[in-house]
Amino acid sequence: MTNYKFKRTIIGKLPYGTDLLEGLTQLVQKENIRCGRIHGIGATTHAVVAYYDQNTKKYSPMEFKGGMEILNLQGNVSIRDGKPFVHIHILLSDPQGKVFGGHLMPGTKLWASELIIDEFEGEELVRGQDENTGLFLWKTGYPS
Ligand code: ZN
Repeated sequence: MTNYKFKRTIIGKLPYGTDLLEGLTQLVQKENIRCGRIHGIGATTHAVVAYYDQNTKKYSPMEFKGGMEILNLQGNVSIRDGKPFVHIHILLSDPQGKVFGGHLMPGTKLWASELIIDEFEGEELVRGQDENTGLFLWKTGYPS
C-alpha cells in the first residue's frame, strides 16, 4: 500500500452495443490512465462474467443472454505488460431482481452505461503472475 493523489475524474457513457471490457480498456489506454478506479451502472444486452475456481485456477464463464441491469460495476486500472489494464467486477440483475455477478469477461455488450473513472497519481501498480493463485496480481503490497 502506498499513497496516491487524486488527479481527475472522467464521467460519461460508452456507445450502445460497445463491448464493455474492450471499451473501458480502449478508453483508459487512450486517456493514458495508468492508475485508477472505475464505477458504473447501466444495462447489458448480453453479459459474460466468470468465477475463478481456486482449485483448477481457471475462470469458469457464465453467460446472461437478454437484458440485465448493471446494479454495480467496480474495478481498477493498473499496469500489465506495460500497458493500462482494466479489472472489473460486476453485479447484474435479471427481470425478477435476482442478482448474479462475477469477473467481467469479453463479450458483454452495453445497452446503456453511466461510468465514472477516477485517475490517481503515484507509484504504478504493476501486475505479475502470482504463484499462489495463478492470477496476475499487483506486485506492490504492504509492507512492500
Ligand atoms: Zn476479477
